[in-house]
Amino acid sequence: MKPLRVVVIGGGFAAVQFAKTLRSKVRGSACEILLFNRENHMVFHPLLADVAGASINVDAAAAPLRQMLPGVECRTERVQRIDLRSSEIEFDDVTGTLTRLHYDHVLIACGAESNLGIIPGMSEHAFAFKVMSDAIYLRQQIVRQMESAEATRDPDLRRWHLNFIIVGAGFSGVEVAGEINELVRSSTRFYRNFRKEDVVVSLVHSQDQILPEVAPQLREFARRRMEKAGITMRLNTRAVAATHEGVELNDGRMLKGATIVCTIGTAISPIVQSLDVPKERGRIRTTPEMRIEGQTNAWAVGDCAYIINAFDNQPAAPTGQFAEREGRQAALNLIRIVNGEATKPFHFKALGQLCSVGGYQAVAEMLGVHVSGFLAWLMWRGVYLFKLPSWSRRIKVALDWSWDVLFPRDLSFLNTDTTQQLTRAYYRPGDFIHRQGEPARVFSVIEEGQVEVLQQDPGTSDTKVVAVLGKGDFFGEGALLGNRPHETSIRARSAVRLRQIGSALFAQIAGSFTPLRELLVKAVTRGSDFWRRLPVSRPLLEGESIASYLDPLPAQLLTKETTFADAINALNDSAAGNLLVLDENQRLWGTLDRGDLYQIIARIAVTSAETQGDISRLKLADLLIPNSIFIALEDSAFVASATMLDHGISWLPVVKSIDDPRPVGLLRGEKISKRVLERMTQAQPPQARAAG
Ligand SMILES: Cc1cc2nc3c(=O)[nH]c(=O)nc-3n(C[C@H](O)[C@H](O)[C@H](O)COP(=O)(O)OP(=O)(O)OC[C@H]3O[C@@H](n4cnc5c(N)ncnc54)[C@H](O)[C@@H]3O)c2cc1C
Repeated sequence: MKPLRVVVIGGGFAAVQFAKTLRSKVRGSACEILLFNRENHMVFHPLLADVAGASINVDAAAAPLRQMLPGVECRTERVQRIDLRSSEIEFDDVTGTLTRLHYDHVLIACGAESNLGIIPGMSEHAFAFKVMSDAIYLRQQIVRQMESAEATRDPDLRRWHLNFIIVGAGFSGVEVAGEINELVRSSTRFYRNFRKEDVVVSLVHSQDQILPEVAPQLREFARRRMEKAGITMRLNTRAVAATHEGVELNDGRMLKGATIVCTIGTAISPIVQSLDVPKERGRIRTTPEMRIEGQTNAWAVGDCAYIINAFDNQPAAPTGQFAEREGRQAALNLIRIVNGEATKPFHFKALGQLCSVGGYQAVAEMLGVHVSGFLAWLMWRGVYLFKLPSWSRRIKVALDWSWDVLFPRDLSFLNTDTTQQLTRAYYRPGDFIHRQGEPARVFSVIEEGQVEVLQQDPGTSDTKVVAVLGKGDFFGEGALLGNRPHETSIRARSAVRLRQIGSALFAQIAGSFTPLRELLVKAVTRGSDFWRRLPVSRPLLEGESIASYLDPLPAQLLTKETTFADAINALNDSAAGNLLVLDENQRLWGTLDRGDLYQIIARIAVTSAETQGDISRLKLADLLIPNSIFIALEDSAFVASATMLDHGISWLPVVKSIDDPRPVGLLRGEKISKRVLERMTQAQPPQARAAG
């Protein structure tokens, strides 16, 4: 008889227990188990903080799945889709080909993802704390900051390097704050230019108590111990944005620091999102035996599942403790079904909670008993040591921990060159991205928002806006190619998201890709030249408000929902051929002119026939790139001219103000040119005019 094929998606606490239990109870000839996981190891999350704090080695908290699961076919591949109707999964095999595989039973145990997108700027500037690479990069970052603090002569910069901000004071936030604090403070004796007192580790938490999950006296103990160890508590405080500078708090203050760790925010895994099954807050609803509601051969366990615990009729907590028990019991229930026996509902009494707070201190709630301090810390280490999935791991971690008690923590790190990196950055309105005179470090492309280019008058210290850049524009290339400091400052006009290429990587790309180099050289000549090309008109235009040049708004305003067919008709009816597209709040969303039409058609022509569909019914929201360049009524006519010259365009939409981007009219280049010519002619002496 063909063996039963059971496919397991995930390789965490739940999936491993499931596969282990099933394998130990059913012979290989009767049941084939295939386990798909994105990585070839299981991550032991409770030890991630120790990895970041360098108290254990990286590999001690990651256990190779195939060594842990003999008799299970382990595949390091990402499952793309589950087709519950045909009982098939789809995954990209090693050659990149989409492959389908039939199953008799499938277990979904793909956990949850971290989601830094909940706070603007976090995904660009903060470390998440969920997977092994998060802990490894964080450890490198911490040591790199100490090296930078040692090297710099600027006391403000040194302070910034030695400030570490942790957002969220649940278990992982508390543990990682404790570990960072321990690593940095215990290492200061190896540095000459800073001391323990210079280190600031801040824990930002929206509630009035840390560790809301544990008993009040344990919380209080944890807070006092952490404060005594030097950690600054920022309670009843929310992080509202993160930037290169640090974290903006809800009271308007900016907490400056080079390292931000965000331990809040989870998202549902994409594979679960795409499943059309009953869900509760994104998690898959299951029956008491843990089959997906409405399915006979599909199961869900762990953080991605919503399971009611028969012990207290409450939803099972998304913790490793529960995930393991769910995995084990789901395997036993599957065997019962195959044997024609009755299944049992998930039933588990939580054993307790353990949390290390740093400095050989912890809090523990075990079977109703509360313990805190060194004894709790010993319990914490003992419990997790024996929870580790294999004896080799246990010995490894035990040796690392003993080493950590006797010897200083390891301060070596792989010096990943930041000038070689492709990164992202977020800036709030008003933030400077770089200042005139600073050395060039990155080449930036605007992904979202607008920036203004500012230049200092050579004679005075006045700074004036000389142009506006928007989505798709770039800056920094002139200083990088010329190997000189920035000749202008760049300031965010709105919230701005950038893609940034480090100077060394930029030099390699610009040096080897001829088309890109040519484009950059053209941009440099155009950008650096525009105010030099306007020596006479600059003083004339600088003092001029653009209100006197304004053309009225077009008779017909388009919206994001306008169809392509209607947009073409509107263009035909418009004499000037310049139209504006508004969003649902009547704010400027984009622009459309005849040039855009050709580009849209060209873009559609290169997409597949399947995606083209009926072009005329496509909406502008799907065809146009939003966030076009615009200027505000408060800008001068010089800024408008420079912006048009810089972008090679002949008209601009004008909005009410930078903060209120509702359109009020249009500005045409020819109108400004005409006025400048008139003024210049009037300014010339009569004989010059006659001669001219
Ligand atoms: C820093 C930290 C500390 C923690 N400390 C504790 C603690 O002390 N005690 C405790 O009980 N709990 C703790 N937890 C919570 C615990 O780790 C989770 O509840 C537990 O890991 C959930 O197990 P799981 O099997 O559902 O998912 P996970 O362990 O997250 O495993 C999911 C796996 O599925 C894989 N995967 C996802 N999508 C796909 C796909 N499409 N194809 C293939 N593979 C896929 C992922 O790569 C991952 O390996 C902690 C969590 C964190 C982040």
